[in-house]
Amino acid sequence: MQQSGAVAVVIGDWDQPHWVTMYAPAGDTADISIPSVFLPRTEFRALVYLTSNNNTPLLVSLQRDETWPWMDMLLIIFVSPSIMLLFIYLSYKIRSRQRKLQEIAPMNVVARLAIKTFYHEKRLENEADSCAICLEDYAPGEELRVLPCNHDFHPICVDAWLTTQKKYCPLCKVNITFATSHNNEITPLIHTFVV
Ligand SMILES: [Zn+2]
Ligand SMILES: [Zn+2]
Repeated sequence: MQQSGAVAVVIGDWDQPHWVTMYAPAGDTADISIPSVFLPRTEFRALVYLTSNNNTPLLVSLQRDETWPWMDMLLIIFVSPSIMLLFIYLSYKIRSRQRKLQEIAPMNVVARLAIKTFYHEKRLENEADSCAICLEDYAPGEELRVLPCNHDFHPICVDAWLTTQKKYCPLCKVNITFATSHNNEITPLIHTFVV
């Protein structure tokens, strides 16, 4: 067809219902410069119908398939593992966040913990006169947060510890959510901790 002067070739099949990728069974096609396309049954018959019903020449426009042939491969090699890794990373983050939430005390539980005012004179023998978290001495009249285990701290110091680090008393490791949710009094179990 190229030798006869054709600028392009449309090859159709009356019966074949599927698209066919054409190729040269043998030999070199490097000397073929005109484009060609295969048409299956429906498209081919439609084209034949149009040409036989029109006396004017029919313009057929061949368009190159612009999809990037490596796209699928690229998707499989790079994008899929990335999505997988992202998924693993996200589920790891969610799990560690859940673990973290289990380790800390809820704000509302901490806010319900007792508050007392510090007076040097009223201090008992075994009671601390400084905050074990920031090591600052308590000032007279200062408000202190008292945990169920009777250990006291600056509210700002211990609230931050309980709500962001651990739900345990920094000194005796009593679980303050366990102690407050079961009983506001000190339970015998916790007494053994304190002693
Ligand atoms: Zn403090
Ligand atoms: Zn304690």
